[in-house]
Amino acid sequence: MNNMYIVANWKMNGDQIFNSHLITTIEKNSVINDASHMIICPSMPYLQQINTQKPSYMILGAQNISQYDTGAYTGEVSGKMLADLKTKYVIIGHSERRELYNEDNNVIRGKFSKAIENNIKPILCVGETIEHRNNGETFDYIHSQIDAVISSNKLDNLKELIIAYEPIWAIGTGQTATPESAEEVHSYIRNTLLNTDSNLAENTPILYGGSVNSDNAEKLFKMENINGALIGGASLNGEEFSKIYNIAGELTNE
Ligand code: PEP
Repeated sequence: MNNMYIVANWKMNGDQIFNSHLITTIEKNSVINDASHMIICPSMPYLQQINTQKPSYMILGAQNISQYDTGAYTGEVSGKMLADLKTKYVIIGHSERRELYNEDNNVIRGKFSKAIENNIKPILCVGETIEHRNNGETFDYIHSQIDAVISSNKLDNLKELIIAYEPIWAIGTGQTATPESAEEVHSYIRNTLLNTDSNLAENTPILYGGSVNSDNAEKLFKMENINGALIGGASLNGEEFSKIYNIAGELTNE
């Protein structure tokens, strides 16, 4: 798999002026590469702004989707609404949603279904806590998070799946997993998918997330089963984010 995916998760940051400047800076500093896909996930109120301002090679993503279709769900945003705003990707199961908003595997399964029904590609986040890691439970925990989605879906629903491995202890902490320890989990994820279907294992991009920056990106991206990154903090700095995107682009050219 030669394609790389570089996903910006702006979280609950930005305003119209900041966002506009950020998009302009990314545009100015990025070397466009067809095999390296750039996905920008702004906060919900700014989906339209980014969709209007962004150049066509930047793809619009959302940070959340409701597990329901329509109705009395105050504060929620449906898949149909996201599709209406030309959203192509959605982050599902981010650890902040799992931990702060009590989203369990059941809720995440529902959100996954709504993404597929609305032709929005799901980026499914999985990752262990430091306690799981210290207790030797990393693989079992990640297996259960992935299985919750793949066991309840037909293969056809899984063909646009992207998985992001994000060890919780590495998110926003500056403490990146070493390329080798990340690769160990990525390769485990690839094997887990292989138990379902060989095409699924071969075609599913597996991204790494957790304090990725322009200093550590190259080593991570050179690992066999790392197909890009989900980037939080560093995605709010246009020059830094572009550097990471350009590193991915150069590797797809090798
Ligand atoms: C994230 O929020 O998905 C993330 C990986 O954040 P950071 O890059 O800041 O660790």
